[in-house]
Amino acid sequence: MPDAPSAVQAFVGLGANLGDAQAAVQRSLQALDRLPQTRLAARSSLYRSAPVDAGGPDYVNAVAELRTALPPEALLAELQRLEQAEGRERPYRNAPRTLDLDLLLYGDAQIATPALTVPHPRMAARAFVLLPLAEIAPQRVTPGQLRAVADQAIQRI
Ligand code: ADP
Ligand code: MG
Repeated sequence: MPDAPSAVQAFVGLGANLGDAQAAVQRSLQALDRLPQTRLAARSSLYRSAPVDAGGPDYVNAVAELRTALPPEALLAELQRLEQAEGRERPYRNAPRTLDLDLLLYGDAQIATPALTVPHPRMAARAFVLLPLAEIAPQRVTPGQLRAVADQAIQRI
């Protein structure tokens, strides 16, 4: 099916570090492709990264490029539904998680509401977002941003 004329290019960051994290990320990439009015246009490799500001097992991370006609709030609601489907609980801030889906970029939109900040406020500080994003959308990441996270432990799986 061709994309709707109103389809927007959006990027989603995926992360998991509980249970079979790799399987959860793979499943969720496929689930993103099945969201209403949305298709998965590209996906990065999987990466393994050490938790930032938290303990627990290493994370498995990836970034997905979507083409979607969903408005950003509706897309966020769908992402949260997928997190729930993977059994996500939020016992405390930065707790280990079965699945975290963050809306990184939604076209060129700048959004600042209580529920949604886009571009995602912490993406520029995180190697586990910037490296997979640079793999599929190099024009959205600057060399300076990559240099700034060069000390963070991350490897392509
Ligand atoms: P984090 O991903 O920062 O570790 P959570 O996944 O628990 O934390 O998200 C907490 C809240 O962040 C969500 O309830 C959501 O409303 C809000 N939020 C704000 N901007 C975004 C965004 N761009 N993507 C995902 N969640 C967002
Ligand atoms: Mg999140």
